[in-house]
Amino acid sequence: MATFDPLNVEPVINACGPVTRLGGAPMPPEVIEAIGRAAGDAASLAQLQAAASRVIARHTGAEAGLVTSGSAAALTLGAAAILAGLDPARMERLPDTSGFPAEFVVAREQRSGYDHAVRAAGGKLVEAGFNEIVAGAGVRRTEAWELEAAISDRTAGILYVVTPDSRPPLEEVVELARRHLLPVLVDAAGQLPPRENLRRFIDAGADLVCFSGGKAIRGPQASGILCGRAALVASAAVQMLDMDDHPELWSPPLEWRELAQLRSIPRHGIGRAMKVAKEEIVGLVTALNLFAAGKYDEELPLMRSRLELIAERLAGLPVECQIVDTHAEVPPLLRVTLGAAAPRTAMEVCRLLREGSPPIHVGHGELHDGRLVLHPLCLREGHAELIAQRLATVLQ
Ligand SMILES: *Cc1c(COP(=O)(O)O)cnc(C)c1O
Repeated sequence: MATFDPLNVEPVINACGPVTRLGGAPMPPEVIEAIGRAAGDAASLAQLQAAASRVIARHTGAEAGLVTSGSAAALTLGAAAILAGLDPARMERLPDTSGFPAEFVVAREQRSGYDHAVRAAGGKLVEAGFNEIVAGAGVRRTEAWELEAAISDRTAGILYVVTPDSRPPLEEVVELARRHLLPVLVDAAGQLPPRENLRRFIDAGADLVCFSGGKAIRGPQASGILCGRAALVASAAVQMLDMDDHPELWSPPLEWRELAQLRSIPRHGIGRAMKVAKEEIVGLVTALNLFAAGKYDEELPLMRSRLELIAERLAGLPVECQIVDTHAEVPPLLRVTLGAAAPRTAMEVCRLLREGSPPIHVGHGELHDGRLVLHPLCLREGHAELIAQRLATVLQ
């Protein structure tokens, strides 16, 4: 097994999918080469970001885009853009928002640990609605009027975390937000593929949309996209870029003509701590072009055959295997449900797989239902056989 030179850390077999704690998705060779080429040269980061903005705009239908250091950073920068607009004094003050509206209304059922990123910019989350289904106390989801009732003169925007069944529908949220002249910030970090989602939330009227670059786009792990209205993206850009220049010399790229409205150039903003390197910009753009062109679809049959191999090898063990398809562009999953005769719980199996050599990490979202979930995106040659062997050993 190769090691992570010079650190001598053993690589793991990742059957979880492109999760951050295991380093995200494998980057395609084209992406790695683009990063290598960029590493030796110098360029204006503002110009690189402006050029990336054009590519992101083309793929998403948004007015502009920014490469961020992840979707969480995109949430922080998007919130910072909504809070400060093009006011350098507000940019300077963040995350202190005393004196201007800072509340983001969010459905209680859409809260998660990732919304810390919005609070990091100074946003204050104001919950609306209930989580009655999880509470086992009702059948209703959050309704648009509940979000609307939480709006006040302290409201800066609406935070919306999108999934295939998020409620209320984004269109309804956009409609009420527009009536109140409020922007909608959409967390769509993991909603790719399908490719059509690159445009879907912008088409629905979202003002800013965040995507991860290190998940299915397969860009660098620490990359993401913030796209949407030009003035907001320009605000986010200037709060992230290095601003150590003379006002007389600083000239923003033409793409961000909104920045001409700044009455002075800000100093380093809240996003300076989330800076993006030239390697990440070219890596993300290269990966986004591949993803948007459908190049990754070619690998889906190989991914499926790897899951089928594991399922075949587990025949005869006290488990039930099921390959789950959700969408023609989305990798299938293998659900391995432990039967009553299994000698260990799913939690124990998961831990033993991690503790072995090489460590094997499987999807852990359904362990309490007695189930391991195997995601094929990050599997490489020979991994399926090893997973099947080790599963057979711990389930014998
Ligand atoms: C993965 C994820 C994030 C964080 O994305 P990064 O690119 O890792 O910063 C934020 N929100 C949701 C819903 C996610 O799934």
